[in-house]
Amino acid sequence: MDGDCIFCQIIRGEKPADFLYRGESVVVFKDIHPHAPVHLLVVPRRHIRSLNDLTEGDRDIISEMILVAKKMAREQSVSDSGYKLLFNVERGGGQVIPHVHLHLIGGW
Ligand code: AMP
Ligand code: ZN
Repeated sequence: MDGDCIFCQIIRGEKPADFLYRGESVVVFKDIHPHAPVHLLVVPRRHIRSLNDLTEGDRDIISEMILVAKKMAREQSVSDSGYKLLFNVERGGGQVIPHVHLHLIGGW
């Protein structure tokens, strides 16, 4: 499934998603099953299976994901009320989609 997961298909435009941000290395779209009024997924364009697969070379992409999440929180007006940023890691950690993604959850 490497490189052909559902998030890769969404990023390539082969499956629909509600995009809020399309950057050079990171995209943001709405979670299809939101757990809160605001539930976004911050996703690197490059397929990385799990946080466990990160290497030293991935510093920039992870930093970019967090900075983009902060920006999206501001745009969604949840910066001040507060929000969660969450990585699920591997199946026992609740990871279902094998492509690294950061959940931005808030708006309660
Ligand atoms: P995780 O459990 O951390 O792997 O999270 C995967 C998330 O992706 C879940 O919250 C799903 O609701 C969401 N999801 C699955 N398929 C889609 C899709 N086609 N478009 C948007 N979000 C999706
Ligand atoms: Zn992928």
